[in-house]
Amino acid sequence: MTAQLFIDGAWHPATSGITLAVFNPSTGEQIARVASASAADVDLAVQAARRALPAWSQRPASERAGYLRAFAAEIEARSHALIELQMRNSGKPRHEAELDISDAIATFAYYAELAEGLDDRQNVAVALPDNSYQSFTRVESLGVVGLIVPWNFPLVTSAWKLAPALAAGCCAVLKPSELTPLIELQLGEIATAIGLPAGVLNLVPGAAETGAALVSHPQIAKLSFTGSNAVGRKVMQAAAGRTLPVALELGGKSPILVFADSDLDQAVEWVIAGICWNAGQMCSATSRLLVEDSIADALHARLAYALSKLKVSAPQVDGCAMGPMTSQAQLHKVLAYFAIAKQEGLRCLSGALPLPGPGWFVAPTLYADVPADSRLWCEEIFGPVLCSRRFTDEADAIRQANECDFALAATVISADRKRAMRVAAALEAGHVWINSAQVIYPHTSWGGGKASGIGRELGPWGLSAFQQVKHITVPSEEN
Ligand code: NAD
Repeated sequence: MTAQLFIDGAWHPATSGITLAVFNPSTGEQIARVASASAADVDLAVQAARRALPAWSQRPASERAGYLRAFAAEIEARSHALIELQMRNSGKPRHEAELDISDAIATFAYYAELAEGLDDRQNVAVALPDNSYQSFTRVESLGVVGLIVPWNFPLVTSAWKLAPALAAGCCAVLKPSELTPLIELQLGEIATAIGLPAGVLNLVPGAAETGAALVSHPQIAKLSFTGSNAVGRKVMQAAAGRTLPVALELGGKSPILVFADSDLDQAVEWVIAGICWNAGQMCSATSRLLVEDSIADALHARLAYALSKLKVSAPQVDGCAMGPMTSQAQLHKVLAYFAIAKQEGLRCLSGALPLPGPGWFVAPTLYADVPADSRLWCEEIFGPVLCSRRFTDEADAIRQANECDFALAATVISADRKRAMRVAAALEAGHVWINSAQVIYPHTSWGGGKASGIGRELGPWGLSAFQQVKHITVPSEEN
């Protein structure tokens, strides 16, 4: 299978003729080749989007809502095949692949609902302090937007950008990750099936050069990027050269705080979910465990046991709880951190080894009493590697949690709801979960502070990110 580029409503080979291999991480086998968009292809995609923009952005938003609902319905109709594809290309266990597809459906449905309300928000009169003038607010689309996504939640991350962008009236050029482009390319099939006007959505798979071509294209109105801090910085630098607005969803090293009043068995479930879902390849992975001193040994013992029993396998195997690392490079990165842990003399309570292949598997891993200056405590590993430290009281827990370059997410586990709310308010994070793990609705915001990025996705904030405000001010008619 060789997949192509989706530009101006049709499939095309890459002008360069270059294709990239795509793998199944559970076996290490190549499963497809995908055309790699060149700078010339990116330009064709941007021109197609520009041609589509006037009609799409001026359409009643209620009509755009109809297309978003059709996206949701079509993803649902194809969900069986999409789930299989997600398992095959990403290595996610079935229940996680199912959640991804449900999330994408919910996101398109949610932004359809928000789009329905947009027509009533055009030309709304502003209350002014005198009656000399009248002023009206319009909320307009930004134009042609460049969307760049990583490989850890393919389709989900794209839906979080694409649905609000299309709802706002933008036309999009979307670059999937070179590692997991297959499911995102299905969006082209879906766009055709629902009769989306040509050029409104363009898909330009490819690697770093394709992303760089999109980032430097002079006719892009905004860049919305999800990925690593290293690339995020390059995107921001390129955007700064043209004073372009940019949204960045970057890395994390999120804390999970367990207080002594917690039910330990339940805490183990949430802690493991926070570090083992998607084999820890989550920007929001709660990879820094902070546990109250009096229960630390008991929790560590239960965690080490539960991690050693966790079924790590190909997603198609019955009972699979955790799949492989999604790429060989990511496997090597995690193994490199095991070597660093050894050099640093960290105390390993479980894991810290690769598992037999042929796929790219590692054992879920726990290090206890990790020094605060350890590289494993400070750096985003993006694998199932949990590091733990103890705290003495609430203030100490908050201090240690906030002593971090990132500020994306956090989890608080405590039987005392008032205390949990107080701690959540004090934590530096864009999203805090209390007595739960990684629960995300399209209605709540996503994004972080510090090195975790700029801006918010999802909710009404995700829509505003693709809109610009205009005011029209005129002398009052009676004057
Ligand atoms: P990455 O930065 O390597 O790649 C992300 C995307 O950028 C890919 O599509 C890639 O091809 C493209 N790219 C690479 N070089 C580029 C360049 N020079 N110009 C433009 N585009 C370029 O990240 P990754 O390894 O795919 O993803 C993992 C990272 O993503 C982790 O750091 C993770 O925390 C982060 N992430 C963040 C969120 C969030 O919401 N904050 C969500 C998911 C992943």
